[in-house]
Amino acid sequence: MGEVTWPLEQNMIRGQKVSNTFGMVRTYANGTPKPHQGWDFAAAVGTPAYAIADGKIEFIADSGDYGKQICMSFAWKDQQTLYAFYAHMNAIMVSKDQQVTMNTMIGTCGKSGNAQNLPASQDHLHFEIRTQAYAGLGLNKRLSPIKVFGKCPLYAIVDGNEIISF
Ligand SMILES: [Zn+2]
Repeated sequence: MGEVTWPLEQNMIRGQKVSNTFGMVRTYANGTPKPHQGWDFAAAVGTPAYAIADGKIEFIADSGDYGKQICMSFAWKDQQTLYAFYAHMNAIMVSKDQQVTMNTMIGTCGKSGNAQNLPASQDHLHFEIRTQAYAGLGLNKRLSPIKVFGKCPLYAIVDGNEIISF
């Protein structure tokens, strides 16, 4: 038994586009399918981001396309540990090995990494659910966030006060 909640106060997929959800939802220039490893939640720079569950900060980083990153572990069904991964952050307000509780403000959303040149209308939180903290490229070691949240906020905002019990 446990609980998770949403990472933002208002949660909706960036641009209401399927290409900002999880899976082989994008396309390379040559037409072949391209993975997107998580969900992009629409979020202006400075929007607070919160721990989705009680857990621990596994790592923070600032590198590559993801820019400023936070990865936290949390307990899931059947004795599993899952990892919530936040990217393109602006401020990071936690440190490695810190214990957090659900709704701890862990940082603010930003446009670090390969989001830095996006127009403001496309600012977002890139959010992944992982089965390992360090997951490599592509969809490896990721789950669709819908497995945790039970629904995808593609066309309507989900209030961050919603709690999912499992
Ligand atoms: Zn993304």
